Amino acid sequence: MVQYSVLASGSSGNAILVQSDKATILIDAGLSGRQIEAAMAEIGVSADSLSGIFVTHEHQDHVKGVGVLSRRYKVPVFANQRTWDGMERSIGEIKAGFYERFTTNDQIEIGNLAVKSFPISHDSNEPVGYCVLCGNTKLSIGTDMGYVNDKIKGFLMDSDAIIIEANHDIDMLRVGPYPWHLKQRILSDHGHLSNEAAGELLTEIISANTKCIHLAHLSKENNLPQLAHLTVKSILEEEQFKVGQEFDLEVTYPDKPTKLRAVKRR
Ligand SMILES: [Zn+2]
Ligand SMILES: [Zn+2]
Repeated sequence: MVQYSVLASGSSGNAILVQSDKATILIDAGLSGRQIEAAMAEIGVSADSLSGIFVTHEHQDHVKGVGVLSRRYKVPVFANQRTWDGMERSIGEIKAGFYERFTTNDQIEIGNLAVKSFPISHDSNEPVGYCVLCGNTKLSIGTDMGYVNDKIKGFLMDSDAIIIEANHDIDMLRVGPYPWHLKQRILSDHGHLSNEAAGELLTEIISANTKCIHLAHLSKENNLPQLAHLTVKSILEEEQFKVGQEFDLEVTYPDKPTKLRAVKRR
């Protein structure tokens, strides 16, 4: 059994907690150390229990609290070399024993969790998504993705829980307040997935084992939680998925954690 909570999600900061009976990890720690401690406390998990922090990419909204938490709680930090190159200066010194470098596609064992990285497309040095396995239970995380190819779909497939980016509503982004170059960046292959793209992707990766889907990294300016949920739900229902019966579909928040949720492969 593995349980997880999206502690915070969006351009103001991202952190996902995944926990088994033998390990507690964070995927990204993009808020201040104090904010992450508070979010963890809210779901009843002590930051003392952290056994590792895995980083997807070096953008501030994913690494802001990495250095502080690593130093304060003596937690090893895992990232690929190019992500280390990109974040080293902003997160401050990480002591030798807590500096863990992997090669993208490696699988790292920590307690009874196996954490596998896979390459994604985004405007950073070497961004990755992660699959976290505990026994045969699988949790997949894909955010900050400009587009998704068959390889990425392969990694996300057959998951018990899926945390997937639904960044923007395309129409809201088009008519919204962002400057042109930023709109282009978000819509590009190195930007972010729209609600529509998330819905279409989900129709290809949901399986009989899927129990819960969380929509993540929602834009504050170019999306609304209800709109993201409705758009994705409609796309899934058009493909005959029974949302709310076969699996739950939930949104995530920039400023509050989702309920700690347990998943287990039947
Ligand atoms: Zn981000
Ligand atoms: Zn990013």
